[in-house]
Amino acid sequence: MTIAEHSTEPYVAASGRYDDLPYVRCGKSGLLLPRISLGLWQNFGVTHPLENSRVLLRRAFDLGITHFDLANNYGPPPGAAEVTFGQVLRDDFLAYRDEMIISSKAGYFMGPGPYGDWGSRKYMLASLDQSLKRTGLDYFDIFYSHRPDPNTPIEETMGALDHAVRSGKALYAGISNYSGEQTRAAAAVLRALGTPCIIHQAKYSMFERRVETGLLDAIDETGLGLIVFSPLAQGLLTNRYLDGMPEDSRVAQGGPFLKSEHLTPEKIGKARQLNALAQARGQSLAQFAITWIFRRKQVTSALIGASKTSQIEELCKCVSAPALTSDEAERVEAILRNKP
Ligand code: NDP
Repeated sequence: MTIAEHSTEPYVAASGRYDDLPYVRCGKSGLLLPRISLGLWQNFGVTHPLENSRVLLRRAFDLGITHFDLANNYGPPPGAAEVTFGQVLRDDFLAYRDEMIISSKAGYFMGPGPYGDWGSRKYMLASLDQSLKRTGLDYFDIFYSHRPDPNTPIEETMGALDHAVRSGKALYAGISNYSGEQTRAAAAVLRALGTPCIIHQAKYSMFERRVETGLLDAIDETGLGLIVFSPLAQGLLTNRYLDGMPEDSRVAQGGPFLKSEHLTPEKIGKARQLNALAQARGQSLAQFAITWIFRRKQVTSALIGASKTSQIEELCKCVSAPALTSDEAERVEAILRNKP
C-alpha cells in the first residue's frame, strides 16, 4: 500500500496501541510520558507532503506514542509544523485529543521586531496564542520556555509560563536548554508561584554530553522529568551515514542544522565502532543510542525525529532491550573518549 492510499482512509487508532510502549512518570509530577516521544522539528514543514506527515503521526500514535512535541518556529517556514499538526489533528485525531500530550515552546527567533524572540512576557504569551491558532488547539499540555533569556528577569519568563497555565492555555510548564543553575532558579520561581515546572527538555546523546556536567544533578534536586532531544545526534548515531550520504537524509536534504561538515571521519569512525557494539547485542546503532541514554535514571522519554515510519517502529522496539552491561558501557567510553 502506498503512503497516499493508506492516508486517505479514515483513521481509526490501533486497538493494541497501549500494549507495548512503557509510560514513565515525568519527574515527581502525575504526568506519564511514553518512553519514546515524537518531535516535529524537521520533516513536517511545507517542504514535506502533508500525507507523509500524516502517515508518520498515525503510525506513531498506533505504536503508543502519545506525546508530540512542537515549537512556534518549527517548519520551514516557522509555524508550518504547527499548521501540519493542526491539520492532522482535525482530520484524524480529534477523537483522541484527550489521549495525547501536545507541547509547544517559545524562546527562539520567530518574527521581526522587539517582540518576536527570547523570553519577555509579551513575546511568550503572544506566541502561545499564535501557536494555539495554528494548531487549532484549545490548550497545550506542556508549554515551554525554549531557552533562557539573559536579558529578561527569570521571574518574568516564569511568570509568563505561570499565566499560561492559570489561563487554561497550558496544563503544565516546562523549560528547555537551561543550565543546572538556571534550572534550579526557574524551578524555585515557578514553585513559589504555585505552578510547578515539571519537565526539562535537553540535548543528550553519545556525541553531546553537556547534561552530565551538572544538569542531571539539578534534575534530581528539583524533581523535574527530563525529555532528551536529538538522542540520535540528528541521525549521526544511526546507520544513515555509515557508508555515505543517502539522498533522502537530513544532511543531503540541506540540514540546515546538520551539515556535511559534521560528518567528519572521526565521527563516522566512532559511529562505525559503536555500530559493531550494537550489532553484537542484536541492536541497530539507533536502538543502541537510545538504550545508552536510558541508562540515566533521570531520563523520562527519548524525543526522536523521523522521516520514515520504519524508523519509529525500530526505535519503539528498543524499549524492551536489556540495559547496558558495565562492560558494554566501558567499551562505549573507550570509543567515545568524551566523558565530561
Ligand atoms: P534525532 O536525534 O532522533 O534525529 C532524528 C533523525 O535521525 C531522523 O530525522 C532520521 O534522519 C534519523 N533516524 C531516526 N530514527 C532512525 C532509525 N531508526 N534509523 C536510521 N535513522 C533514523 O532527533 P531530532 O534532532 O530530529 O530532534 C528530535 C526532536 O527534539 C525535534 O523534533 C524537536 O521536537 C526536539 N528538539 C528540541 C530542541 C530544543 O531546543 N528544545 C532542539 C532540537 C530538537 P533522516 O531524516 O535523515 O531520515
